[in-house]
Amino acid sequence: MNEKIIIFSAPSGSGKTTILKALIQSDLHLAFSISATSRKQRKDEINGKDYYFFTPEEFKDEIKKGSFLEWQEVYENQFYGTLLSEIDRLHLQKKNVVFDVDVLGGLNIKKYYGSNALALFIMPPSLDILRERLINRGTETEESLGKRLKKAVYEISFKNQFDVILVNDQLESAVDKAYEIVSAFLN
Ligand code: ADP
Ligand code: 5GP
Repeated sequence: MNEKIIIFSAPSGSGKTTILKALIQSDLHLAFSISATSRKQRKDEINGKDYYFFTPEEFKDEIKKGSFLEWQEVYENQFYGTLLSEIDRLHLQKKNVVFDVDVLGGLNIKKYYGSNALALFIMPPSLDILRERLINRGTETEESLGKRLKKAVYEISFKNQFDVILVNDQLESAVDKAYEIVSAFLN
């Protein structure tokens, strides 16, 4: 296994998807690992592009079948995981694979790929700004917002186990820094 892979982890709302989308459009030849999830599809999301959307029952069946490289119940009854079939699909593309996964999933994937993996932790400038970004994104209910903010504190406690901590304050400069870091790792 010699290919290099990139892992992006962060508390929900930190901006990792936004940064990742910018990098995927750059000249870094990155291919996004599309995860499976049992959470509800958001209005702007496309099944098979942003995620493979499963019901909780379908997701649990896939766990039983051994279909995942890794999976986590990130929030109660909301499962997320990387399908082995997705890894096979990406191998064929001859691009550098990039993962957007929760903190525990990120550390597991890092363990699996060892020095061929670069694990980045995207930090929000503060918890207040994180809250503001989640509210502005317009995807959360009062309840899910509370769950995501509570989990953020736990997730931030793992940040020092990552190769790089990148604070996403000004978006443009965070994208530039992420580009430089990933580019240096791949070359
Ligand atoms: P994540 O994938 O980590 O959950 P998103 O990429 O969905 O986070 O970003 C959360 C929200 O914050 C989105 O509405 C996004 O447009 C916004 N956002 C991302 N980065 C910044 C930034 N640097 N400054 C202000 N808003 C940002
Ligand atoms: P969201 O619901 O905001 O899209 O994602 C919630 C969390 O699940 C994020 O931290 C995201 O990175 C994580 N996540 C997405 N896909 C996977 C995956 O395949 N495995 C794991 N472990 N976490 C994932």
